[in-house]
Amino acid sequence: MNSEIIAIGSELLTPWRQDTNSLYITERLNQLGVSVAFKTIVGDRLKHLVDAVQNAIGRTDIVVIMGGLGPTEDDVTREAAAEALGIGLKRNPDLIAQLYTRAAARRMTMTRNNEKQADLLEGAVVIENPRGTAPGQWLDIVYGKHRKLLMLLPGPPSELKPMFDEGCMPLLREALPQRFIATRVLKAALIGESAADARIAPIYTQYTDVETTILAHLGDIQLNLVCGKPNLALAQARVDSLAGKIEEELEDYIYSSQGESLEQIVLYYLEMRGATLSVAESCTGGMIAERLTKISGSSRSFAGGAVVYSNELKTEFAGVDPKLIERHGAVSREVAAALAQGIRKRCHTTLGAGVTGIAGPSGGSEDKPVGLVYLGLSDGDETEVLERRFGGDRERIRHYASQTALDMVRRRLM
Ligand code: AMP
Ligand code: MG
Repeated sequence: MNSEIIAIGSELLTPWRQDTNSLYITERLNQLGVSVAFKTIVGDRLKHLVDAVQNAIGRTDIVVIMGGLGPTEDDVTREAAAEALGIGLKRNPDLIAQLYTRAAARRMTMTRNNEKQADLLEGAVVIENPRGTAPGQWLDIVYGKHRKLLMLLPGPPSELKPMFDEGCMPLLREALPQRFIATRVLKAALIGESAADARIAPIYTQYTDVETTILAHLGDIQLNLVCGKPNLALAQARVDSLAGKIEEELEDYIYSSQGESLEQIVLYYLEMRGATLSVAESCTGGMIAERLTKISGSSRSFAGGAVVYSNELKTEFAGVDPKLIERHGAVSREVAAALAQGIRKRCHTTLGAGVTGIAGPSGGSEDKPVGLVYLGLSDGDETEVLERRFGGDRERIRHYASQTALDMVRRRLM
C-alpha cells in the first residue's frame, strides 16, 4: 500500500514556513507498513487543490490532506476534495450545533463564516478535534474500481498530531491488512556514502522486501532497514539477515547495529574496558568534549581535558615542550602525539587524545594546507598519530576532526 500526503497552505510555499506535519504522518504511516510515495505542497487555490487531490487519488491508495479546513475565504480544502472526487458537500446540523456550543463555552460569538467548518463530504466519518474548531474527515470510497482512503485534517500541528493518532490510526489499522514492521538502524563512521553504497547495494537490492535508506552526514552514515510482514518474527528475521550481511561487508566501519550514536559507543567501550579518557583540543575547540558530555553518564569514563588553542596553553595544560612546537610547528605529528601523552598524564586517565590542525579558511600554507589535521591517541605505552586532510569549510573540517578522534578511540578499544 502506498500513500500521498498533501500539505495545503500558501505560507508553506514561502521561505518562512515548512511543512513539518508530513514528517510526523510519514512516521506513523510507515509504522503501519504504508510507504509514502509522494508529498505535495499546494497553495490555497481551489483549482490547484482539485488538481492535487485528483493526481493523488489516481496514483496512490491512501491520501492524507491537511490544512485549509478553517473558516476563512482561503480555506477551500473541503470544496476542492468534493470537486476532485465528484461527491457532494453537505452542511451537517450536528456539527453546526457543536461549533456554537464550543464558541459559547468560550464566551465567544461565532460569526456565520465559521459554519462552513460543518460542511461534510458525502459518506465521510467525522474525526473529532478536541483541540480546535475544524473537525477532520475520513473517507473510505471506491474510486475508479479501487478502494481509496482519504483523510482531511487541519494544519496546526497541535491539532493534527493528536487527531492523526487518536482518530486516524485506529481507522487505518482496521482498514489495512495487519502488518508487523521490523526495523534496524546501522551506523558507520568515516566511509563515504558512495563508497559504502557501492559495497552494499549488491546486497540490499537482493532484499526486495526490505526497504533500505541511506542517510549521510559529516562522516556519519545511517542505514535504515525496514520490513513489513504479516508476522513480526518473519519481518525481524529479514532485517536481521540483511543487517548481518551489511555488517560483514562494511566490517569495522560499522560502529553501531542498534542505532546508538558514535559518542554512546565510545563511552560504552570505555566503560566496558574500565578505561578513562581525556582530551587536549586545539582546532576542535572543545567539540570532542561537548559531544561526549552531551551523553548522560559520560562522567563515568570521560574525565575532561583542555582547549589548548595557543602554544602557551599547549605547554601549560598538556606539557608540550615549546622546543617541539618551534621545531615542527603547532600543527604537526609530533605535537599531536605530545598533546595526547601530556593530557593523559595531566588528567591521570587511561587514554589521552590530542587534536591539532588548520580549520581555515585562513592560516594555511603550501606544506600545511587548510584541512590538515593531526590526531594523537596515547595509552602511555603506545601513541598513535593519524594525519588527515579534510575538505570543506571550517565547520566541516572541525566536525570531521572530532568524528575522527572519536572513531580512533573506538577502534583502539574495539
Ligand atoms: P490551516 O489548517 O490551513 O488553517 O493551518 C493553520 C496553520 O497551521 C498554518 O498557518 C501553519 O502555521 C500551520 N500548518 C499548516 N500546515 C502545516 C504543515 N504541513 N506543517 C506544519 N505546519 C502547518
Ligand atoms: Mg491555511
